[in-house]
Amino acid sequence: MSQQHPDRSVFDQVMTPNYAPVDVIPVRGRGARLWDQHGREYIDLAGGIAVNSLGHCHPELVAELKAQADELWHLSNVYTNEPALRLAQTLCDLTFADKVYFCNSGAEANEAALKLARRKAWADVGEAKHEIISTRGSFHGRTLFTVTVGGQEKYTEGFRPAPQGITHVSYNDIAALEAAISDRTCAVMLEPVQGEGGVRPADRAYLEAARRLCDQHNALLIFDEVQTGVGRCGELYAYMHYGVTPDILTTAKSLGGGFPIGAMLTTDDAAQALIVGTHGSTYGGNPLACRVASKVLEVVTRDEVRANVTARHQQLKAGLEAINSRHGVFSEIRGMGLLLGAELTPAWEGKAKLFLQAALKEGLMILVAGPSVLRMAPSLLVTEADIAAALDLLGRAIEQVKAETEAA
Ligand SMILES: *Cc1c(COP(=O)(O)O)cnc(C)c1O
Repeated sequence: MSQQHPDRSVFDQVMTPNYAPVDVIPVRGRGARLWDQHGREYIDLAGGIAVNSLGHCHPELVAELKAQADELWHLSNVYTNEPALRLAQTLCDLTFADKVYFCNSGAEANEAALKLARRKAWADVGEAKHEIISTRGSFHGRTLFTVTVGGQEKYTEGFRPAPQGITHVSYNDIAALEAAISDRTCAVMLEPVQGEGGVRPADRAYLEAARRLCDQHNALLIFDEVQTGVGRCGELYAYMHYGVTPDILTTAKSLGGGFPIGAMLTTDDAAQALIVGTHGSTYGGNPLACRVASKVLEVVTRDEVRANVTARHQQLKAGLEAINSRHGVFSEIRGMGLLLGAELTPAWEGKAKLFLQAALKEGLMILVAGPSVLRMAPSLLVTEADIAAALDLLGRAIEQVKAETEAA
């Protein structure tokens, strides 16, 4: 049974139940605003989970996508194409990287990074050097390899047997990393700010220690910048803020501004392990995706965009602190650039979804990061007026949650 405007109930009928979307179905977006099927307007501080880096339907991205749609959509890896070459060139110019591998998502970029690390260690040393270290609370994607490397037990439950040789240590704990790493380690994978795990920034000393330990043990340092990258944390990539350079960096989400793309960036030396035939992707380096991503990078690296990220960070953080001084629901407000997290006090532990739903009722879209952290990852172009309006709505939503809880 088809409907011209299918509603939320259709989801339960025809889609696998691995998501629980809210009732609202957005149909149109502009900048940091969305409209649902009934024409109701929302302020979007969720940004497609840190994806819509330039907001919805940015005119320059729309123009690039439409122009490419008239030229060439897809070729396969039997050929290369101009948009992919241009994008790879730009990524190498703007970062530490000498070589780029394109794919379609964050998980795939991480899968490529992990496979490269294994393959390089195997080629240089032998199969014994296969161990991978990552951190508890990390998130690296949903393929079997990446969920296993990710540090959240709930995502691997029921999917075993899992890939072997993976160790988890606690995040920001230098001694734990030092104790776990050895000459059998081929890679250490870290998020410079744990995104899904609650918007937890790394300490500079921790990333510096990880770099030093990887060098000592001839292991590759992989930064998963799928969530932190492409200007989200202020600098183009968060590693630049920390001054610690990885051997491999993965990027996706904001890179396409909403068009699916992922990339693995690496050095000449590491890239040599991926000889012809060792890895691949049908759509990786797709001309539509690469053309859009090139424009995203061009816009994001403009001085005024970076200045806006800094200014809106301060505005949002100050606003959240002001809300908290009235309502006392947050124990910590943290994050970098336009990736912010507000951790709920013990009294509200596990209740983040309640706040998300109350915000939605007020016309504001936010995210959670785990059960007890509210997360915001808006467009990097979000305006002062949008943030001010969003803070008003959030304040009202929190009042509602408190009133309802007290009444109950
Ligand atoms: C979202 C995310 C991923 C997974 O990206 P997908 O595009 O969903 O595969 C991996 N790592 C981090 C840090 C992420 O935030």
